[in-house]
Amino acid sequence: MSNPYLLLTPGPLSTSDSVKETMLRDWCTWDDDYNLGVVQPIRQQLVELAHCAADQYTSVLMQGSGTFAVESAIGTLLPKENGKLLVLINGAYGQRIAQIAEYLNIETATLTASESEWVSAEALRTKLAEDSAITHVATVHCETTSGILNPVEHYAEVVKAAGKTLIVDAMSSFGGIDIDVAGLNIDCLISSANKCIQGVPGMGFVIVKTSVLEQCQGNARSLSLDLYDQWQAMESGNGKWRFTSPTHVVRAFQQAMKELDQEGGIGKRAERYSNNHQTLVAGMKKLGFECVVEDEKQSPFITTFKYPQSDRFDFKQLYDRLKEAGFVIYPGKVTDTPCFRIGHIGEVYPVDMETLISAIEANIFWQ
Ligand SMILES: *Cc1c(COP(=O)(O)O)cnc(C)c1O
Repeated sequence: MSNPYLLLTPGPLSTSDSVKETMLRDWCTWDDDYNLGVVQPIRQQLVELAHCAADQYTSVLMQGSGTFAVESAIGTLLPKENGKLLVLINGAYGQRIAQIAEYLNIETATLTASESEWVSAEALRTKLAEDSAITHVATVHCETTSGILNPVEHYAEVVKAAGKTLIVDAMSSFGGIDIDVAGLNIDCLISSANKCIQGVPGMGFVIVKTSVLEQCQGNARSLSLDLYDQWQAMESGNGKWRFTSPTHVVRAFQQAMKELDQEGGIGKRAERYSNNHQTLVAGMKKLGFECVVEDEKQSPFITTFKYPQSDRFDFKQLYDRLKEAGFVIYPGKVTDTPCFRIGHIGEVYPVDMETLISAIEANIFWQ
């Protein structure tokens, strides 16, 4: 079955036919074929993709969408007593981490910047010096709200110099840009199947320092999102999940990892995403569109465009026409600017961006 349109939405996104085809087979959750043949290799490959040594980092897979994995990490890493989380916020996903912490009754502080700006590393340094109760810092790598790529290397330097635990939501960046997790001394990184790895939705994963996770027994505020217990089950059961695992999703993820490797690894994929982004932006600028995020801060994953300055511009109308032409784009999320977003990750190529630009050009009804 072919798809009626390409998803230019940053997750779920368009996946390859070969990824989808792997889901035609059923798997037994406690059989070695699945646990040793699918789950354990994935866990090992994730640690490698993050440039981590297997004796220092581990990875844990978690059922659910990306937010479930974030919630499992926050709820399990923060100790029940004397823990305080500082969240760096410049968009909806940073906000969501703070909201998760609030739901879980975790003491929380925030540092906030506007959606097209970075929280400054200097402000972070000052905050950590002022508030010694802070034990953990959480940041979002690519804030998918705007497409801004936050300077996680600078934050890592400051957070680790202050001796705090660093948690990175790399949902929409991991696999699409090289992240030296061990080199940056990141304690915990969270991502999910249906973004730059190009799998299908239903599972997230957490890459975490083993020495950090070892300290987390009994911390979890939720049974099903207990990352420590999930890890223990996967370790002792050689890839066994505590509760029903999304077998088809996990098998598709394994295929997606293989295709990432076949493409030439993260470097090559990053190059393709970058080409997608550049082709898109060059074309959109020719049509008179302006980006919300400045070039130096822009990620290669998703781009936010301001609405054209015309009373006749109607996003819904553009959306519908582009859908008919074979592309689904994404409404805006930046609060103070009317805008829309176009994702350029997934099974999407520069030629698709060119076709999209032609479709937009053919539909400029607002001039
Ligand atoms: C997609 C995404 C998430 C998770 O969203 P879900 O809808 O739960 O999958 C979290 N953080 C960022 C930065 C994201 O892009």
